[in-house]
Amino acid sequence: MYDVTIIGAGPAGSTLARLIGTKYKVQLIDKRELTNSPEKASSVKCCGGLLAPDAQKLLSKLGLGLPKSVLVEPQLFVVRAIDTQRHMERYYQRYYINIDRQKFDCWLLSMVPLNVDIRLGCTFESYEYENGSFKIKFSDKNNTYIDKTKILVGADGASSPVHKQLEPKRHSSRPYFAIQEWVEADSSKIPYFSTVFDPEITDYYCWTIPKGKHLIIGAALHPNDKAPGKFLLLKEKLEDFGFQFGKATKREGALIMRPVRIRQLSTGTNGIALLGEAGGWISPSSAEGISYALRSAIILAEVLCKSTDNFEKRYRKNTRQLRRNIFSKNMKSHFIFNSFLRKMVMKFGFRSMELYKPQ
Ligand SMILES: Cc1cc2nc3c(=O)[nH]c(=O)nc-3n(C[C@H](O)[C@H](O)[C@H](O)COP(=O)(O)OP(=O)(O)OC[C@H]3O[C@@H](n4cnc5c(N)ncnc54)[C@H](O)[C@@H]3O)c2cc1C
Repeated sequence: MYDVTIIGAGPAGSTLARLIGTKYKVQLIDKRELTNSPEKASSVKCCGGLLAPDAQKLLSKLGLGLPKSVLVEPQLFVVRAIDTQRHMERYYQRYYINIDRQKFDCWLLSMVPLNVDIRLGCTFESYEYENGSFKIKFSDKNNTYIDKTKILVGADGASSPVHKQLEPKRHSSRPYFAIQEWVEADSSKIPYFSTVFDPEITDYYCWTIPKGKHLIIGAALHPNDKAPGKFLLLKEKLEDFGFQFGKATKREGALIMRPVRIRQLSTGTNGIALLGEAGGWISPSSAEGISYALRSAIILAEVLCKSTDNFEKRYRKNTRQLRRNIFSKNMKSHFIFNSFLRKMVMKFGFRSMELYKPQ
């Protein structure tokens, strides 16, 4: 019998396992293989791989320094905000750490204590509550396993099977389908992260990120049959802003559950805790989620390290600040995604800067 079983070894699950792994008997399960080898690339999490200032702060709180192997060129100091509808753009100074997301996840996992049982390539299927503990069912390519655990943690991302079983109606949150295409590009010519706003394409947002010898073009779209056409339209519109897209080498997709109401966030109940995107923790304005994954894991670890009694209540209480943060990001969204307000912000260039260009 495990004290804690964590489903999902993304940033949330690995961080929790690292922080509680020596105090409790812990099992960490992930359907991905989580290796750095390219042939397992199909198991890579679809992500822009930018560590925003909030995520950087949390890494410092965790006392961690990033290994060089996790970094990807170029490191970014400039955000280019583009309003394609009005053909306006502005530049802002902000520092993002540009990472290889797969290597980042593998690095976080490598710090999980040795006494944690890590089961990779294993897919969680379901749980049953029985006599004060959970019977969890998971399988790999060849076998199905049943294990027992006192506490179950869903750190299993936006489509969280744990969350679905616990609260089947949860998916009233607003779903988006994110498409990311990797095209060959000279990233030294585009050393900035672009955020692109266009209500014809989406009421969320689109982005470009230079990544080594590639440029990622991404969009969070309404999940319907128009999504592929809208993605093509985005590329066409970006060409008017000087973007040149080389050969596409990869296209990937992922679900984003955008929390537009605070009640769409969940910390779990009845012996189950939800972390990171599984609980709906992701920025409704920018889809930044690594900081929320780390922060929710730290909060749950602090709660569990004190005691497991009534941990659900204390975890919920201690995430109050995080809920407020999502609330304020929702307020910010109204500004950014409102066409008139964005026009004003872009027109007056509030907090923007000019770029010096060689004559
Ligand atoms: C296109 C896109 C771009 C993004 N870009 C950024 C960015 O640049 N910066 C940023 O901060 N955030 C970004 N985000 C958000 C960020 O990726 C997530 O918020 C973050 O990964 C959440 O971490 P997590 O640990 O909660 O979940 P995840 O990273 O999703 O990890 C969940 C884990 O659970 C595992 N799992 C799922 N189901 C099962 C199962 N049944 N059995 C076993 N294991 C299972 C998965 O394999 C995975 O390893 C982006 C998201 C998308 C979709």
